Amino acid sequence: MRQDQGEPYQRRSAGVYAVADRAGSGSVANPRPVLYDAVLLDRDGTLIEDVPYNGDPEKVRPVPGARAALDRLRAAGLRLAVVTNQSGLARGYFTGEQMRAVHARVEDLLGRFDAWLVCPHDDADGCDCRKPAPGLVHAAARELGTTASRCVLVGDIGRDVAAALAAGAAGVLVPTPVTRPEEIAAAGWVATDLPAAVDEILRRQQAVQPPTPPGVPVRTALVVRSDSAGDMLVTGPAIRAVAAGAQRVVLLCGPRGRAAADLLPGVDEIIEHPLPWIDPTPAPVDPEAMRSLTARLSAVDADEAVVFTSFHQSALPLALLLRMAGIGRIAAISDDYPGSLLDIRHRVPVGVPEPERALSLAAAAGHRLPDGDEPVLRLRRDAMAPRPADLGEPGYVVLHPGSAASSRACPPELATRIAGALTAAGHRVLVTGGSDERAVTARVAAAGGTDLGGRTDLAGLAAIVADAGAVVVGNTGPAHLAAAAGVPVVSLFAPTVPFGQWGPYRVPTVRLGDAATACRDTRAASCPVPGHPCLSGIDPDEVVDALRTLAVGGGGGR
Ligand SMILES: [Zn+2]
Repeated sequence: MRQDQGEPYQRRSAGVYAVADRAGSGSVANPRPVLYDAVLLDRDGTLIEDVPYNGDPEKVRPVPGARAALDRLRAAGLRLAVVTNQSGLARGYFTGEQMRAVHARVEDLLGRFDAWLVCPHDDADGCDCRKPAPGLVHAAARELGTTASRCVLVGDIGRDVAAALAAGAAGVLVPTPVTRPEEIAAAGWVATDLPAAVDEILRRQQAVQPPTPPGVPVRTALVVRSDSAGDMLVTGPAIRAVAAGAQRVVLLCGPRGRAAADLLPGVDEIIEHPLPWIDPTPAPVDPEAMRSLTARLSAVDADEAVVFTSFHQSALPLALLLRMAGIGRIAAISDDYPGSLLDIRHRVPVGVPEPERALSLAAAAGHRLPDGDEPVLRLRRDAMAPRPADLGEPGYVVLHPGSAASSRACPPELATRIAGALTAAGHRVLVTGGSDERAVTARVAAAGGTDLGGRTDLAGLAAIVADAGAVVVGNTGPAHLAAAAGVPVVSLFAPTVPFGQWGPYRVPTVRLGDAATACRDTRAASCPVPGHPCLSGIDPDEVVDALRTLAVGGGGGR
């Protein structure tokens, strides 16, 4: 578990939270940015035109708009570093002195950078700094006095994005004609060029800051997130932001999200009720149930309601019930015209990570995370079940083949081969799954590992994941449990929904699978393409390599 995520959270009063906020922050007028401290920039093809193995300062040509874009970042208080692979040093194509002359010329043209991080090796050296390894990103973060998760890296090829993700940083791809189509498909965040990337970094940074300083603290806030465990977990940072500005937080969730809701810090009371306009397999609308829900919401006596949704869901039916319940101030994201149902109608471009999308709604409602509370997913340790004693020491690899949506699950045949490859590489493998997935977990674990299918509820799974060295999982709830524990993820990510929105958030991640298959962006619950090609083409050795990239030890090695 990461150090910044080890603090146990209890149900707490807003008073305690607010005091901690004041004590922790330097000045109210100039709080620490919520998302990023630093921007890391690839050099060749990103800042300057790519001249292969260039040792000549005269050949340095900035990309269009680079100077002005970098100056906008500097003016916003972001620190800047260059992170660059220069294998020409290892190959003797230019000298260190020539490279320093090139870098001096880059600074003449583009202004000062706070740090330069160079990998002088080539692939054969097997170093941990040549991108896509995450070493340069970690080194840059250290040099700049921050952590990788508070950095965003801009680069022009897949290696840049992969290095960022493997370090737990955000990665923006700015494609050039040499960028491969599969690299563009796999990237979770793509901008047309460097100035556009910078604009979006600054926009996202701004979007999670409330437009006005917090006013009078809210007495009771009602927050709403209906849907599954994963949806609930990614809304956690936004709920903490609301909790920081409210004395009491009541959460309305659906039955499928209840177990995750119980794990979220900042929540004082939970109301569980299905919402038929959200549930994927909804029951008919029962007027009596709607009347009793409205009465229940009225009894909360909330000063405000913040209704969190995914982009394909509507907040408006609930907003009507909240109006009927007499709630005075209602905030939600809605592209649909809300009439008088919303006081704060917020809009978010597509592609923003779900936790940030929700944080930006909280900000529009006047709330932000206090300084010292990083915008990462978090769970209440006191709500987790104790980890079973018979699992051995921490550091095992959790392999979770299933998913509520089969389109996002790892094919059992592949999971079986992955279990075998991980075991052969010296990893201790725990195979997890729900009680309805026991046939699969048993089959997978027979190839190598311990079968925990059906042995855990969500709280128990959270405890097991928290002590893992890494989790190998599709786009499903346990990926977010891992993110919440700071445990690295090998993400077998079916592209049915955008990786940039639903990928593991702010945790070291390697994404595997084909991002360009026909299921892309279909939101299909079961795979629409014969053979599940987005995931079935993964080679188990890629998983073993990913764990090495993530510095997850396998005991015996290979
Ligand atoms: Zn290196």
